[in-house]
Amino acid sequence: LQTITEAIITADETGTIEDINPAAEKMFGVSKQAAVGQNVKIFMKAANDDALLRYFNTGDTAILGELREAEAVRADGTTFPVEITISEIDEGEGRRKFIGVMRDITVRKQQFEQIEFLAHHDALTGLPNRHLFDDRLTQALIVAGRRQSRLALMFIDLDKFKLINDTLGHEAGDIVLKSVAARLLDRVRASDTVARVGGDEFAVILDDVGANENAAQIAQDIIATLTTSIEAGGEECTVGASIGIALYPEDADTASGLLACADETMYRVKAAGRNNFLFFNVQNNNLTKNS
Ligand code: GH3
Ligand code: MG
Repeated sequence: LQTITEAIITADETGTIEDINPAAEKMFGVSKQAAVGQNVKIFMKAANDDALLRYFNTGDTAILGELREAEAVRADGTTFPVEITISEIDEGEGRRKFIGVMRDITVRKQQFEQIEFLAHHDALTGLPNRHLFDDRLTQALIVAGRRQSRLALMFIDLDKFKLINDTLGHEAGDIVLKSVAARLLDRVRASDTVARVGGDEFAVILDDVGANENAAQIAQDIIATLTTSIEAGGEECTVGASIGIALYPEDADTASGLLACADETMYRVKAAGRNNFLFFNVQNNNLTKNS
């Protein structure tokens, strides 16, 4: 009990602390002397409906022997996540004592959050990855359907990006990709989604885009910002982009349908000479002088 790294707290059946071990003193920043006689509630952030407090308040023993997570409170008021198990000792004559064993799981939680983040984002640019993008698009279509608003999907593939890797090196290529990500984020509203969906492929969801001219304007801005020079590998370089635009609801009303339209259109831009944008529906292309 003296050397174990888990905090161990014993209390009587009303929750009054009888003993804490050195690990608990350290974890909660409190001396044994100061803790003994107080209620264990001082260590827990939980509201009254929390299982631990319910145990003291109502004797509900559902939590006994079960591993659970809770938010703990240090003496200075800061909080941290713990994993906790409660055991009960029957002292006879209807008297009970309980032992709480707590482990600080701050690091584990942070690692879990990082794994969660990496599962849904691209490690190089920090943008949502294909998987999260598909979710966002599906969600955005549901919202657009409910609000009867229009949505634009842009599929962007950088032009001749391999050349940057081949001439300046892969690391310079990485810098360019990061810079493209930052520039794309800069050109859209915070509520729009920018994702990296492939090597040099990005996708943008423009929620509630309104008139098609708005999508055309943003595509134009994106091309303008991407074609200003980027410093990578000690050199100034430029990169172009081919953008295909599909619109909900007229071009397609599913995520996969819209993606297919935008992707196909992006290839039409490549075939027509690159560094430009087109709408899937050719009638929309006379909206723009780039057509
Ligand atoms: P195009 O105009 O036809 O799109 O030509 P491109 O050279 O851009 O060719 P393409 O889009 O087919 O290929 C993209 C290249 O991006 C292929 C790959 O070498 C490179 N790439 C993919 N992922 C990464 C990455 O994470 N970092 C770097 N530096 N390069 C990458
Ligand atoms: Mg490319």
